[in-house]
Amino acid sequence: MKINENYRSLRDSYLFSDIAHKVAAFSESHPDRRIYKMGIGDVTLPLAPAVVAAMEEAVREQGERATFRGYGPEQGYPFLRESIREYYRSFGAAVDADEIFVSDGAKSDLGNILDLFDPDNTVLIPDPVYPVYVDTNKMAGRKIIYCAATRENAFLPMPDTSVKADIIYICSPDNPTGAAYSIERLRAWVDYARERGAVILYDAAYESFVSEKGLARSVYEVEGAKECAIEFCSFSKTAGFTGTRCGYTVVPFALKRCGMSLHAMWLRRQTTKFNGVAYAVQRGAAAALSEEGLRQIRANLSVYRNNAKIICDALDTLGIWYTGGRNSPYVWLQCPGFTNSFAFFDYLLEKTGVVGTPGGGFGRNGEGYFRLTSFADETTVRGAMAAFSAAFG
Ligand SMILES: *Cc1c(COP(=O)(O)O)cnc(C)c1O
Repeated sequence: MKINENYRSLRDSYLFSDIAHKVAAFSESHPDRRIYKMGIGDVTLPLAPAVVAAMEEAVREQGERATFRGYGPEQGYPFLRESIREYYRSFGAAVDADEIFVSDGAKSDLGNILDLFDPDNTVLIPDPVYPVYVDTNKMAGRKIIYCAATRENAFLPMPDTSVKADIIYICSPDNPTGAAYSIERLRAWVDYARERGAVILYDAAYESFVSEKGLARSVYEVEGAKECAIEFCSFSKTAGFTGTRCGYTVVPFALKRCGMSLHAMWLRRQTTKFNGVAYAVQRGAAAALSEEGLRQIRANLSVYRNNAKIICDALDTLGIWYTGGRNSPYVWLQCPGFTNSFAFFDYLLEKTGVVGTPGGGFGRNGEGYFRLTSFADETTVRGAMAAFSAAFG
């Protein structure tokens, strides 16, 4: 037998476990010091009451013979796909309920979608970026090229027509930089993809954080995107589902390559390799998109938004350059006085007790930058930024 040799080319992902070790060692040697955890990209507020009530009700239904449900539709229950379609309509993107595929989260779909594409394709990935795009393609042995996200382009790289890419990743608002494309800027990517016959894999996991007008919530706000883009989204960051698991992927009917419908291929793939998301979870997800649910999840989002503003205000006062924060739970700052983000991590922890994520962990161009998240409680964020300001003011 032979193993998949491509796994040898994967970099060990020590980033988060390394950070956890350093933080644990620090708190052990400094038991009296306060630690401000602003590093992990995970939500902290609980599920909305409307979501909990819907899930409880669904579990009771599953416990009664008359209302019990076995296997559901692989693509997701129509009640949830309808809610998602309506949600898209609320910000001006038209998708058909049958173009929506419900899943256990965006990360799985981002990996699984690659089943549809030949390993011979060239993949274009921004640098720095969410590490999943790089690793899933390395596992398949695909050729990866990078487009540089830098301070000069505000961490929003634009297409270069001399670059020949077949699969293009875009994450907006971005993890880790928090930068978000306007509909206008996104149009250039859609035009590039259509011209080349490439496919855009658009990660909209943070769309609900967009608050400025003119910025894209969905790639389908751009005309022609349905002919070239697949969109991945999730209830994880929007509704606190990171531990509950529910996401969705939109594969438009109009997306065709080499005489094949990618929608038909994805349906075939899912019905073969996937058996759907738990009924109670889908009921919870639909409740998150109900009028009451939306009100409740927006109240949670505004807590994170307010935290991001506290971070940004402190950086503004210190005159430290950053992006993100306004339309994202992430603030991406230039390390003050450091060119090495890992050295800055150590210094910041030692000096202030603030834990963030070194930008170098997200790619070469992330070096010199640092990610702070607003997924914390306000007291932690205020304490962190007071300590930060005292150290760099
Ligand atoms: C958190 C996150 C997701 C969501 O992943 P789930 O599997 O749905 O929890 C997707 N993309 C990015 C960039 C993320 O940061």
